[in-house]
Amino acid sequence: MSNRGLKYIAARLILVGLVQGVGFRPFIHRLATKNALTGYVRNVGGSEVEVWIEGLEDCLYEFLHAIFYEAPLVVHIEGVFMSIEDPLGYRNFVIEKSDSKAFTRSNIPPDFAICKDCLGEVLDSSNRRYRYPFNSCAWCGPRFSMMYRAPYDRENTSMSKYVLCEECRHEYNDHLNVRRFHAQGISCPKDGPRLYLLNKDFEIVDCKDPINEASELIDEGFIVAIKGIGGYHIAALASNDGVVLELRKRKRRPRRPFAVMGLNTKVLKKLVYMSEEDEVILNSPQAPILLLPKKPDTPVSRYVSPDLSHEGVFTAYTALHYLLLMNTRDKYLVMTSGNISGEPMCTDEKCAKSRLSKIADYFLVHDREIVNRVDDSVIRKTGDQYVILRRGRGHAPLWITVNRDLGGEFIAFGGDVASAGAVGFEDKVVLTQFIGDLDSLRAQKDLLKYVDYFVKNYSLGQKMKPVVVVDAHPQLHARRLGLEYARARSLPLVEVQHHYAHVLGVAMDNGLEGLISGIALDGVGWGLDGTVWGGEVLLFNTETYGFKRLGSISPLPLTSDRDAHIPLRLLFAYYSHRGLEFEKIPRLIDFEVNRDYLFECKAAYTLVKLGKYTPASSTGRLLDMVASILNPRIERTYEGEPAIWLEALAHAGKDLIEIDHFKIAMRDGIYRLLYDDVLDWLIDNKSNMDRCTLARSFLYSFGRALGELLLVSIKGENVNGVVVSGGAAVNEFIYRGIRDKLKEHGLKPHLPRNIPPGDGGLAFGQVIAASLKVNSSSR
Ligand SMILES: [Zn+2]
Ligand SMILES: [Zn+2]
Repeated sequence: MSNRGLKYIAARLILVGLVQGVGFRPFIHRLATKNALTGYVRNVGGSEVEVWIEGLEDCLYEFLHAIFYEAPLVVHIEGVFMSIEDPLGYRNFVIEKSDSKAFTRSNIPPDFAICKDCLGEVLDSSNRRYRYPFNSCAWCGPRFSMMYRAPYDRENTSMSKYVLCEECRHEYNDHLNVRRFHAQGISCPKDGPRLYLLNKDFEIVDCKDPINEASELIDEGFIVAIKGIGGYHIAALASNDGVVLELRKRKRRPRRPFAVMGLNTKVLKKLVYMSEEDEVILNSPQAPILLLPKKPDTPVSRYVSPDLSHEGVFTAYTALHYLLLMNTRDKYLVMTSGNISGEPMCTDEKCAKSRLSKIADYFLVHDREIVNRVDDSVIRKTGDQYVILRRGRGHAPLWITVNRDLGGEFIAFGGDVASAGAVGFEDKVVLTQFIGDLDSLRAQKDLLKYVDYFVKNYSLGQKMKPVVVVDAHPQLHARRLGLEYARARSLPLVEVQHHYAHVLGVAMDNGLEGLISGIALDGVGWGLDGTVWGGEVLLFNTETYGFKRLGSISPLPLTSDRDAHIPLRLLFAYYSHRGLEFEKIPRLIDFEVNRDYLFECKAAYTLVKLGKYTPASSTGRLLDMVASILNPRIERTYEGEPAIWLEALAHAGKDLIEIDHFKIAMRDGIYRLLYDDVLDWLIDNKSNMDRCTLARSFLYSFGRALGELLLVSIKGENVNGVVVSGGAAVNEFIYRGIRDKLKEHGLKPHLPRNIPPGDGGLAFGQVIAASLKVNSSSR
């Protein structure tokens, strides 16, 4: 037997990541003491913790192991640097004062769902925080949404006005109190925020318990606005058709799905199918909305997510939401953002009063200020990977570390749809939270506000001039805002092509290096040739700026913005381009073009005949067109609706026929994916096959054809990896098709990991592209 394990040794650890403001030091203290180790722990810089430990080798390894397996859920360790040292003879283990002089940037922590322990206190009638709606600790509760500025200290948050009572202060100063030692956001019923129930006229409703009262009102069918962590929600019965339809009418939101919040995953299991992995995500500190397949016998009204296969569900992530749901009959409710259609969600009472009083009957509000608006994050599964569709609460604004120094500072303005901006510095990119569609002036203001917030809090522009990055599309709001921003501050500007930013971003998000090929599938992005792109195969190198466009789907004629809203227009424009007579088209698709559509179809048809159109290799519009073949009446009431509907149809289908009518041909110097015969095939089979089979067969075969297009395009190139990006790339069946095709050739398509596949992730790729451009030109 050797003496290994009984040796007395010491080690110094530097842990990097989200390790401050999350109860990490008291956790380390407890762990060290438990393993009979001595030494110290302290915060260093803005996002690191230093640990010195000494003791028996075995205990030391036990300790190291536990750091990873027992750390509070909200701790996120990005890196560990360890060195074995000579013991210094520490007698005990202490939490040392932080070294606050060093200037470094600290990761701004996101908001976290209530932890099990805090919830336990809220439900324990003997606890002093019994039924306290704002309970939180070092492991949970709001952070970013209440931060005026970094670093995350109480005086920098909207909790600063609530002075800790004696008991809370004692907990705060007690380093043995793992959950409340230096926990910046804590409070209790004696000293914390107050809750009120208001009626439509914003008068206080006299009641014993505002939460119970609100639950009862909801059960009676009233619609109640609720001020949460990052903004207002609208809550209503999800099981009642009448209530859901009334909410749709008041919100002017005909079909866009509402999210459903359940008391816990046990309740949600009655509504949707849920794997163990899904359950972990729903119960995580991020507590996102997760899109899960509906159960056939779900008690949720079909008007909550009309015609869709999946329901967006999440759990009660604050004590307030938990107490509210607990008292309702169903234990699950529609919980949708409190905004008027197209605008950002309200965060204060002034906005709620002016925007929401036509939607809600009552308001459950509190007096804590929401400093930063943060929407709920939305996650879906594609293939066997989770993809973040909307990066909000729980995820934003954590920085994303990339595998290189960016060689400068960058401010990116992203795109217009579901937009987010970003800043980049050192080896980090910080995406802002989901902002919304920039058609709204309020959203435009928000984009500027949050870009500024990160510029200030990460001290950009102090040592060098940041580079402003915008999309190349001349008509984007995001681009205009970026140009104005750069001009006002005399900052250098870089323009980046839309799809290049998409695929480069995904490559970097996956840590890929060298020669990479990407498939970008989305609606409309400005191409380098003045046409619209959106179904592209690009080749690029992660070390140098620029890309080659090797292939694309065959362009279809785009006549106006209205094409995206009325897909039937696209079909008429397309057949006009193919030279079909107008009168023959309705017979083709077996649809009588009534007065509602006649004008639209005529307009689109004629504009193409007059040559007034833009060629668009747009996947989104191609999917719209296919949707209109299967349902000529389909209209888009929200972004991506026809494509989402097609995917839902495909989920309901059982049979899959491989459509081998796609063709690839060299046109204008690039490979084009031709689909004329495929659309003809769909039309021919429309009457003898069910729509679900057609949708499933089309999407999957289209994916395989895209895979083939990529393989043909990159023939002879030795690529290190393949990425897919863009809103349509996460379509389950298109993705499966691409994956299966590439697999036959030993390739695997990478989906985005930390960034949204749509324009919400665009700014991330813009930062990387600009960094490549700036550094290659300065070399
Ligand atoms: Zn907690
Ligand atoms: Zn207190």
